[in-house]
Amino acid sequence: MHCPFCRHEETKVTDSRLAGEGMQIRRRRECLSCGERFTTFETAELVMPLVVKSDKRRVPFDEAKLRSGMEKALEKRPVAREAVEEAMWRIGRRLRSMGEREVESRVLGELVMEELHHLDEVAYVRFASVYRSFQDVDAFRQEIEHIRPQRRRRAQPRPALAAARRVEAPKERK
Ligand SMILES: [Zn+2]
Repeated sequence: MHCPFCRHEETKVTDSRLAGEGMQIRRRRECLSCGERFTTFETAELVMPLVVKSDKRRVPFDEAKLRSGMEKALEKRPVAREAVEEAMWRIGRRLRSMGEREVESRVLGELVMEELHHLDEVAYVRFASVYRSFQDVDAFRQEIEHIRPQRRRRAQPRPALAAARRVEAPKERK
């Protein structure tokens, strides 16, 4: 790095050791031009990347919004609260480990869909139909075909349709 005193481009590391209970590296550096010495601390950047929306706006990662989106998709589905929290934790960890300052909202959406696909197929379709910008009806149909074999294996009576019917059941008039 550049010398903070004279802006010379080359400095050398004279000492390097762990600091902050092993969470930092402390380096003593010396400027090759002016000879000044200074210390730098290196820490892992565990900052959540900004989310880049499709209209190019940058917004902070919103955990509450992610949770409510997933809970909406999982409404009335037999999925343990703890499994949802674990899925959220994995999404957060993957976002951080990308080491990027920004990620497209599409990437976040894909991570959520991946987790929902493991948790519950109905929630997955609900979420995908809202958040993924399907190019046309065929793309959506392919998505349904993609998950259909799993449904057969579980031998359940078409849970997606059953759930949809419950939601669409007409309410009685007062
Ligand atoms: Zn210098």
